[in-house]
Amino acid sequence: MNKEEIIQLLGTAGAEQQLLFEQARNIRNEHFPQGVCIRGVVEVSNLCICNCDYCPMRRDNLKMNEVFALDESEILGAVEQIRTCGIHTVFLQGGETPAGTRMLGGAIRKIRSMFGDEVNIILNLGVKSANEYAYLYEQGATGYILKFETSDRINHERLRHESLDKRLEAIRHLLDIGYEVGTGMIIGLPGQTLDSIADDILLARSLNVQMCSVSPFLPAPHTPLGSCPHGSINLSLNAISIMRILSPDWLIPSVSALEKIRAGGQVAGLNAGANVITVNYTPKRESGKYHIYGENRFVVTLGHALQTIAGAGLRASDVSVNPASAPGAIPKETDHEIVSS
Ligand code: SF4
Repeated sequence: MNKEEIIQLLGTAGAEQQLLFEQARNIRNEHFPQGVCIRGVVEVSNLCICNCDYCPMRRDNLKMNEVFALDESEILGAVEQIRTCGIHTVFLQGGETPAGTRMLGGAIRKIRSMFGDEVNIILNLGVKSANEYAYLYEQGATGYILKFETSDRINHERLRHESLDKRLEAIRHLLDIGYEVGTGMIIGLPGQTLDSIADDILLARSLNVQMCSVSPFLPAPHTPLGSCPHGSINLSLNAISIMRILSPDWLIPSVSALEKIRAGGQVAGLNAGANVITVNYTPKRESGKYHIYGENRFVVTLGHALQTIAGAGLRASDVSVNPASAPGAIPKETDHEIVSS
C-alpha cells in the first residue's frame, strides 16, 4: 500500500469502510487466534517535565495539579491486583521525569518473582538515557511504549516543544537494547492533515516496532488546546484498520479515548482490527490525579474490558483472567460517559 492508497483509505466511509474493517478483522483473527490481550496498567506518577500542549499533566500545570508518585509497596500492591485477576501483562506508566528509575528497577525485579517470571512488563515512562533503558531491561522489563504522536516535524515541535528526532532516537535505543517497542499517534491534532496521518502510519512501520496505538485527540481543560474539537472516531478506526493490514503482527490497542468520545468506541476499535485492551489498576486515591485527558477520563475496569471483548465476539487471550477474583472489578452499567457522537 503506498501513501496515496493510505490517504484514500483514511477517508473511507459507508459500505467501503465496513469492507476495510472486515479485512482488518480477518487479518487480526488469522494472526491472533488466541484473542485479545489484556494489560493491567498502574500509573506510577503524574509528574512530567514535558509541556505538551494537549496534556493537562504538562509542566506548566505543575502548580495546579496535585502531584503523586507511588512508592514500591504501592506499585506492588496494585500489581498484586493484576496478578489476582489472572492478567500476565503489567504496564507501568508515568510522566517523563529523571527521578524514580532505580526504585522502578527494584519493583520490576519483585514483579517478576511475584509472577514466577510468567509476565510481560511494559513501561511507558518517556525519554530516558540509553543507560537507564538498559538498566530497566536488565531488571526484567520486556516492552517499552514511546509514542511519537505526530510525524509532522513542525507540528510536533509546535505542540510538544521538543524535536521529533529526540523521540525517534530514544525508540532506536530501546530497539537496540532488545525491548519490544510500541509507538503511537494522535488523530485530530490541530494542523494535522490526512497526508501527515499517512506519514505517521508509514513512519511507525519504518521503525520496526511491535506495537502501535491510535488515539483520537481529546481536548482537555487547562491546556492550550482545550477549546479545539476532538479527533474523529471514524478516522481513528480507519487508521487502526490500515495499520492492521500493513502490519498484521502488531499489538494495536483499542484505547479508552475511543470510549470517552463514544460509548462502545472500544468495541468499534476491536471491530476495526485492534487486539489489546488496557485495564486500570492505579490505586483509586491517585487515579483521579492522573489527568492524561483531563479530570473526567474514561477509566477502564476489568468488567468493562471483558464486556467490550465479548461485545466484539472475541475472547481474552489470557484464559486465566478471572473478574470474580477482583472484588469491585465489574463496572456498573453507567460506567460510560459520552462527550459527543
Ligand atoms: S503527554 Fe506525556 S510527555 Fe506530554 S506532558 Fe503529558 S505526560 Fe508529559
